[in-house]
Amino acid sequence: MTEELDTFRDQFRKFLAKDLAPHGGKWRDQKMVDRSAWRGLGEMGALLPSIPEQYGGLGATFAYDAAVLEDVESVVPELTTGVSVHSPIVAHYILAYGSEEQKKRWLPKMATGEMIGAIAMTEPGTGSDLQSVKTTARKQGNSYVINGQKTFITNGQLADLVIVVARTGGPGGKGLSLIAVETAGAEGYRRGRNLDKIGLHASDTSELFFDNVTVPPENLLGDEEGQGFVQLMQQLPQERLSLAIGAVASMERAVKITAEYAKERKAFGKSLLEFQNTAFKLAERKTEAMIARVFVDWCVERLVAGDLDTVTASMAKWWCSQKQVETADECLQLHGGYGYMEEYPIARMFVDSRIQKIYGGTNEIMKLLISRSL
Ligand SMILES: Cc1cc2nc3c(=O)[nH]c(=O)nc-3n(C[C@H](O)[C@H](O)[C@H](O)COP(=O)(O)OP(=O)(O)OC[C@H]3O[C@@H](n4cnc5c(N)ncnc54)[C@H](O)[C@@H]3O)c2cc1C
Repeated sequence: MTEELDTFRDQFRKFLAKDLAPHGGKWRDQKMVDRSAWRGLGEMGALLPSIPEQYGGLGATFAYDAAVLEDVESVVPELTTGVSVHSPIVAHYILAYGSEEQKKRWLPKMATGEMIGAIAMTEPGTGSDLQSVKTTARKQGNSYVINGQKTFITNGQLADLVIVVARTGGPGGKGLSLIAVETAGAEGYRRGRNLDKIGLHASDTSELFFDNVTVPPENLLGDEEGQGFVQLMQQLPQERLSLAIGAVASMERAVKITAEYAKERKAFGKSLLEFQNTAFKLAERKTEAMIARVFVDWCVERLVAGDLDTVTASMAKWWCSQKQVETADECLQLHGGYGYMEEYPIARMFVDSRIQKIYGGTNEIMKLLISRSL
């Protein structure tokens, strides 16, 4: 934390609470966030804070991304998933592997929210086993021709720029490349329906179809084909840490709103918080949230210093998301029947948190990666 970051957060939180939070219900009903919200985030400098100023960012460190994710999750959780994909993931792929021309072309528009980013790895037949991706991008003349299908893509309905994991070579990870597709007017590109999910109702999640979609060769990210898998692996610590940051903010919020509820609600002539079980459960969860925060803050420091490794980031992702889900479940229980009613935030937190153990690499895959270091 710095004084500058403190000031940024102060203004940002006020903006979120006043200008965006009131629209959360509408976004959940329409199953996506309004584009105007993206523009608003862009105006606040919250979309690409850690991208250099010459490309429209703030030129700050990942600590700003962390602060944005935390504040969004605490104040307008409807935005968390979309922003987590757009900012710390898609923008950073372009920054790390894009050519100068690509960076100048896409990043400034992503910073203002004019362009929304998505990353398309998962396919109907391939999730955890990314090396089996079937979507192809074949060189034909002076173009790549992309064919295949993706599913579960966050920001899929809104995305103007999709980074597609596609096979440019033979089988296995070495045959994969990352190719950017600008969706506006892309012939053969089709969005499937906005998928119905049990939670994260304001986040659009879609199937995407590529039927002979032609893109120029310079849309390949990186200098040569076959770098896709390595590029994905290099960016994973930041992606996984981003999910852990959201998890910590969610845990803290769950404890806070449950403590408030338990103070107000009466049973057997006293407030729920006066029951030792309620108070002890919240004490335990508050402790875990603090442990998670200290670990995640340390991981943010490591990432800013450039030495957060995949194993540690995987630990942060699985443990914090596991604790997030347990916390939401227990806090819902402490609300009684009201916790099961949609108008109570804890009910949404319960269903929204569940995906955290699955996306961004399942928690089983996280443990697989960690176990390889034993
Ligand atoms: C709301 C939502 C948003 C998403 N957003 C995106 C996105 O923006 N972009 C994108 O590309 N994808 C996205 N995904 C996809 C997500 O990343 C995948 O669902 C996830 O990686 C798991 O893949 P899968 O669903 O195919 O499950 P599978 O890989 O079929 O796994 C099924 C089960 O088997 C277990 N398993 C698999 N392999 C192993 C193993 N080797 N050892 C032990 N257990 C194993 C898994 O842990 C899991 O429990 C999203 C998914 C959802 C639901």
